[in-house]
Amino acid sequence: MVATSPLAVPDWDYAPAPESTDIVSIAPRYSLFIGGEFVPPADGGYFATLNPATEEPLAEVAQAGQADVDRAVAAARDAYEGPWGATPGRDRAKYLYRIARVIQERAREFAVLESLDNGKPIRESRDVDIPLAAAHFFYYAGWADKLEHAGFGPDPRPLGVAGQIIPWNFPLLMAAWKLAPALAAGNTCVLKPAETTPLTALLLAEVIGEAGLPPGTVNILTGDGATGQALVAHPGVDKIAFTGSTEVGKEIQRAVAGTGKKLTLELGGKAANVVFDDAPLDQAVEGIVNGIFFNQGHVCCAGSRLLVQESVADTVLDRLKRRLGTLRLGDPLDKNTDIGAINSRQQLDKITELTAAGEQEGAERWSPACALPDRGYWFPPTVFSGVSQAHRIAQEEIFGPVLSVLTFRTPEEAVAKANNTPYGLSAGIWTEKGSRIFWMAQRLRAGVIWANTYNRFDPASPFGGYQESGFGREGGRHGLAGYLDA
Ligand code: NDP
Repeated sequence: MVATSPLAVPDWDYAPAPESTDIVSIAPRYSLFIGGEFVPPADGGYFATLNPATEEPLAEVAQAGQADVDRAVAAARDAYEGPWGATPGRDRAKYLYRIARVIQERAREFAVLESLDNGKPIRESRDVDIPLAAAHFFYYAGWADKLEHAGFGPDPRPLGVAGQIIPWNFPLLMAAWKLAPALAAGNTCVLKPAETTPLTALLLAEVIGEAGLPPGTVNILTGDGATGQALVAHPGVDKIAFTGSTEVGKEIQRAVAGTGKKLTLELGGKAANVVFDDAPLDQAVEGIVNGIFFNQGHVCCAGSRLLVQESVADTVLDRLKRRLGTLRLGDPLDKNTDIGAINSRQQLDKITELTAAGEQEGAERWSPACALPDRGYWFPPTVFSGVSQAHRIAQEEIFGPVLSVLTFRTPEEAVAKANNTPYGLSAGIWTEKGSRIFWMAQRLRAGVIWANTYNRFDPASPFGGYQESGFGREGGRHGLAGYLDA
């Protein structure tokens, strides 16, 4: 606390609390993880991955080309037809438990590396991403020897080689969502992390080596969209699992059509977070903040549309603005930081373009007073009120710390507005009436619905959407279905 005079209002502030980066050692250059070894790319290409909070390069990573995809798929096939295919479920479980435990042991290292490469606050990578990644491996380890009791018939079989493509918003966690069920079910994997966030996947490759999985069981190919495209098109792949934009998801669906490959898609969203006048409003405000400002809003299930009942709209907006004034934006490695850096220049440009469109279309824009660092990619928490359903900011996925506020008068109107989207991934309901929660949940077209909370994840709970949010479920018993021939 700094008090300038005995009569002055005290200026409460936090002292800087930066997490040390000593625990991570980042190599200047990373190769591809194929057949249990780190090998250079066939054509020798590399690209830089940046720290989005400083724009400084962190390392060079390999650009996998067609020949590398061929090598990785062949290694995965050999492992599938060889040692991994012959490994019984009870032993696959041991490997998964081992991966989970090593992630826990190296949790701090993973968290710091994730925040450096992604820009997310250390508080989130430390308390959410990394523990949940370990939890996914623990959870699916438990299924590996019980597949015949999972409701998929007496003898469910793995599919073979799974090609898995993940985005940059939860890099390690998305790798865990993909790998854990695939391995539990007995498949082998070729995983492609996003171009801007490859480092924790490469650390995971090291952990997988440490855990002693047979070579080729998991292969990790860094690269860009072309690497993903080559993996999708590869005839040696039996299953594609993709998380990312709806646009690329549609392209993948077209590429896979008619090939016999099994496909699951987890795509975009434009979720409604619906607040009724009987909701506990302070709790709802916390839920609204967590719904859209968690992970800078780079969350497919983010509550990016707030639907608030007209009679409490002014109160909620006032309390929300007051709460946003207390959020701290800045150094992702500071333990007090709430809002970190935007992951890339490209994403920052997209957020900037869509928010400008919001203003042009007549919505009222507000952000708290908030100094942005001079270097790096930053965007202040932003609230648009007076938003109409036709506005682009009410229709398109912004994937940034931007909330669009709309109002409603009746539950029927709330449902109609919430469902007025091509997506269908998630929704939130805030009310003290249990009967209203059930009434709403039956009518909202969303794969995941939270009541009086938001953005809660658990490996035992299936996650996924429908309409333009994709199909298939990840997590829970349902998450096994995408990796079993049953
Ligand atoms: P993409 O959908 O382009 O990327 C997701 C993953 O797919 C990345 O690994 C990417 O590689 C890879 N990829 C890109 N093109 C292809 C292709 N043709 N075939 C196969 N794989 C491909 O998302 P972006 O990162 O470009 O983000 C764009 C927008 O998508 C964001 O602004 C956001 O709105 C939305 N998005 C939504 C996500 C969600 O979970 N709902 C997650 C991420 C983005 P690379 O990174 O190398 O390009």
